[in-house]
Order: sequence, then structure tokens, then C-alpha cells
Amino acid sequence: MYLTKGRAQVPENLLLKPDIDFIRQVKSSGGETLKKCYQCATCSVVCNLSSKDHPFPRKQMMLAQWGMKDQLLADPSLWLCHQCNDCTTRCPRDARPGDALAALRAISFKEYAFPKFMGGALSNPGSLALLFLVPALVLLGILFKGSGSDLGYLFQMSGEVDYARAFPHGILEMLFIGGNILIFAFAAVGLLRFWNHLKSNHSKSPGSGFISALISTGMEIAFHKKFSSCEANKSRQWGHLLLFYGTAGSAITAGLALFFTIIMVKLGSPLAMAPPLDLPNPIKLLGVVSGLGMFIGGWILISRRRRQLDGVGKSNYIDWLFLIVIFSVGLTGMFSYTIRAFLPVPVIGYLIYYVHLILVFFLLWYAPYSKFAHMFYRTLALVYAKSTGWDKPRKTSPN
Ligand code: SF4
Ligand code: SF4
Repeated sequence: MYLTKGRAQVPENLLLKPDIDFIRQVKSSGGETLKKCYQCATCSVVCNLSSKDHPFPRKQMMLAQWGMKDQLLADPSLWLCHQCNDCTTRCPRDARPGDALAALRAISFKEYAFPKFMGGALSNPGSLALLFLVPALVLLGILFKGSGSDLGYLFQMSGEVDYARAFPHGILEMLFIGGNILIFAFAAVGLLRFWNHLKSNHSKSPGSGFISALISTGMEIAFHKKFSSCEANKSRQWGHLLLFYGTAGSAITAGLALFFTIIMVKLGSPLAMAPPLDLPNPIKLLGVVSGLGMFIGGWILISRRRRQLDGVGKSNYIDWLFLIVIFSVGLTGMFSYTIRAFLPVPVIGYLIYYVHLILVFFLLWYAPYSKFAHMFYRTLALVYAKSTGWDKPRKTSPN
């Protein structure tokens, strides 16, 4: 026999099958206060991003307490949350719903990861040394291939610093551009699984509004509009914006450098540029400004988390790892450029550049498995929510 509630039919004797491992996983990923929740719904009332028909995070707290993994991993509301923590600061039980939703998101992209073991490796501190060892060895191989047995120039205290001699551009392009085409194909597998899971768990499918949802999501991300709806954690918006545009600018710089210094050279075009690019070359200028954005944005977010300012959520391993790596990419990038252009001490320059390349490898090759992935999953979930009307703003009190 079935009871009818709204449009959905609910079996009278519904048997819940909690996934105990999942509950443990949520608790160990930052949601350890989950069980304190007594379902008062204060959090859903105070959340400015909660939607009309699908208010959150009260429901997600309940599903997580029950270990309803499948429903949660297919829930777009997890990704409508921007961890502003207005709910956490008002929760009468200190159940920290903002942290619980962050833990659920981290579990989500780990579960969808392809190959799955990589999702586990990036969230396990025990794998960190191996994850760094791989790029360290690959780059050493490139160094030996580029330099042959003539390694003396690397250890000089003065003289020209020529990074392209140690790490030839052609091989680096293959490593970072060719390799990333492969790794983003892997990311696409995970994202496709996520998309299909979203569609199969909900009655509404993305309709003809997909393209407008995509454009609207792009605009929302470009201006970080949702962040400005937050109260407790509002100032994070600037750090996040700097980090976002710093990373995007660095990727564009790499693409432009490849285009003008390699492709145009091969085509014999008059637009070709000879490396190294130096200021005031506009590509180098974009690179320097982007590196500064990553450095300053990363610093703002790290220092907010370190000082545990009001409304800053609990920071777990994957948060710290991502922030430290991206901040260090900006820092070592700026040092590498400064040493080559203004303070040529080859031994220091080559060492810093080597560390910089290891970090860039870490950031890009592991992007589908680190916190970087939240950008892709959030974008997809927002597109789904907009194209199905899931995220309609709330006008009445949540149920
Ligand atoms: S405010 Fe706290 S106790 Fe109340 S439903 Fe939300 S998480 Fe649970
Ligand atoms: S952290 Fe912010 S956006 Fe997320 S559920 Fe809480 S109040 Fe809403």
C-alpha cells in the first residue's frame, strides 16, 4: 500500500537501508557534528541561497544522519550551497550544517572520480608523498633529457638563467597540454556519471532551457553573485575572486605563450614571438598579474582559515592541500620570473622553477580529484538546477 504525499508516492512501510560506512565517511570528512541535528529547520530558514521547492540544508542533514548516500550524491542542493555558514552560526545545536554539506560535496567528487582510486589518493594524507614523487621524477627525467650530461650550468651562482634549456618548451607543452587533454577526458567521465545520476534521481530533466542555464551559470560564476548573498562568510568573496581569476589568467597566459612562441613560429607567421617573454610584453604582464592574483587570493583564504574568522567553515585536509598548492604555484611562479629577469642566480632559479613545475603538475594533473574539481561539479549542478527550475528563489517559509 502507498500513501500519497504531493506528487510522490511513498510506501507505507518504507524500509530505510542506512549506509553506515557513508555516515562514518561524512563524519570523518568534516561533518562530525552531524548527529547533533534535531531537525528544527532554523538552518533552512536562514539560508539565503535555499530554494522554494527544495529548501536546504535541514533535509540533507537528515538524509546524512540516515546514511542515504544515493539520494545525497544526486542532490543538486549540495552544490547550491556556497558554504557561507549563515546556517552554522545560527544552528541552536552547533551541528554545523555548512561543514556537513562541504563534507558531502568532498565525498561526492571522490565517488564520481575516474579512475576511482585517484579520488581516494587525493583525500588521503598517506598518499601525499607519492603524489609529489611522480611529478618530481617525471620532471627530473625531462631535465636530464634536455641537458644531457652537461648539468654544470644548473649549479652556477651567477650567469644567465634559461629555464627553456633545462626544461625544453616542446616537452613541457606535451606534458601539460597533451597530458591535460587526457586528464580532462577522465574528468568528463566523472562529470557524466554525476549528470546521469542527477537526471535519474529526479523527475525533472533539463529542458530546452539548457543553453540559457549555461549562460546564466557562467555569469553567476564570473561575478561570484551567490557569495554576495552570504552574511557570515561574505568577505571570502574577494579572496575567492582573486584566486579564480588568477588561475584562469594563468591558464590563458600558458595558451597564449604556446600559440605565439611555438605555433606561430612553426607557421613562420610575423606574429611569432621569441621566448623568453619579458615585461612589458602583454602576455608576460597577464602572467605576472595572474600569478599575483593566485598568491594574494590564496593568502587571503589561507589566513582566514588559519584565524578561524567568524563564519569560516571547518577546514579539512583537501581544503588545506588545495589552498597551499595553488598559493605556492603563484609564489614560486613569481619567484622564478623575478630571479630570471632581475636577480640571475642560476642555482636558485632552476631549483625554484623545478618546484614550480612540480606544483603546476600537481594542480593540473590531479584537478579532477582535488578540491579543484568542485568548480566543475558545482557548474554542472547549477546548470541542472537552473534548467529544471530546481533553484527557484524562495518566497515562502520552507517546510
Ligand atoms: S539548525 Fe541545526 S539543529 Fe536545526 S535543522 Fe539545522 S542543523 Fe539541524
Ligand atoms: S552554508 Fe550558507 S549556503 Fe550553505 S546551507 Fe548554510 S546558509 Fe545555506
